[in-house]
Amino acid sequence: MHGLELKGVSKSFGNTRAVEPTDLKFAKGELTALLGPSGCGKTTLLRMIAGLEDPSVGSILLEGQNITALPAHKRKFGMVFQNFALFPHYSVRENVAYSLTIGGVDKRTALDEANNLLETVQLGGFGDRRIGELSGGQRQRVAIARALAQEPEVFLLDEPMSALDAKLREEMQVELRLLQQKLGITTIVVTHDQREAMTMADQIVVMSNGRVEQIAKPQVIYHQPANAFVADFIGKANFFDGVCKDGGVLVGENFLQTASNFRTESPVRIAIRPERAFIDFDPGANRVAAKVMFVRDLGPMREYHLQSDIGPIIVEHAAGETNPELRNGDATTVRLPPDALQVFPRYEAA
Ligand code: ATP
Repeated sequence: MHGLELKGVSKSFGNTRAVEPTDLKFAKGELTALLGPSGCGKTTLLRMIAGLEDPSVGSILLEGQNITALPAHKRKFGMVFQNFALFPHYSVRENVAYSLTIGGVDKRTALDEANNLLETVQLGGFGDRRIGELSGGQRQRVAIARALAQEPEVFLLDEPMSALDAKLREEMQVELRLLQQKLGITTIVVTHDQREAMTMADQIVVMSNGRVEQIAKPQVIYHQPANAFVADFIGKANFFDGVCKDGGVLVGENFLQTASNFRTESPVRIAIRPERAFIDFDPGANRVAAKVMFVRDLGPMREYHLQSDIGPIIVEHAAGETNPELRNGDATTVRLPPDALQVFPRYEAA
């Protein structure tokens, strides 16, 4: 049985359709990331789930019960927003205890329970501090502890890491994921950061223009993107436009073998990840002549920017591999393994 389910949920603001009719399932105990560029509708979707926004059409079910008309305060959902919204004049402990006292718990018990929650989020010794005396990461943990105080059935987070610097953000992603798994709580995280989604999620929902583009596990989203938008948004990709022909793709005058099933002659866009293309001497199909334009040594990997017979292409080799010693202006060839080429109908890539 699925924990939370959206059936045909959509939202319009006047003439703006923020969310197209959407069906989604959030399995009990799993973490789902709603991922997409700014304005794609992910916050609106989360706010409808929270009960802060009414869907224009459609229904929201929790454990099979229709909760569409249930107001936010009657849903047992915990929420953490971008700015954390903590009370600056309360102590850390009082901030966490507050959400228990408004739920009817007596103050003494609430403060004891707050101490336990602060231990859970590794802030055991911080109960007496004011919010202003905490770092960004510590404030975020207080916001999480406060949201968890009500033992929510569903945990909702809107860009929870955006106020944190890059290094701390990565640490908090791992920490939050471990906590979520330990508590086994159904969780939905809104983010525009693909690394955050890949790090934390059991399931990623990629959105654009109010539409769901793909719902899948992180590895599937990365290796088998449903369309060119997803391939472009998640990770890096090189794109080439061509026409499919005889089971392969003709890009200009270069015929590339692919593993795709397209048979009819039609415009397609092909994509290849930089780490799936090679500059090497191995035999194999799909070698195209190329000239080195720029080499970027990034430490863990080296990135070659080339102008090839089929267009500009970036190839990435990991450090430790035998990297070709190439300079700007050198002539070489790039190998594009057929099974690494993803082929999409071109109308989707427009
Ligand atoms: P961001 O990452 O920038 O927060 P988002 O993906 O969360 O973006 P939403 O905030 O859900 O996107 O907005 C989706 C669309 O709906 C946008 O075009 C936005 O301008 C519009 N929108 C959102 N809220 C309202 C509102 N209250 N009134 C009118 N239009 C709105």
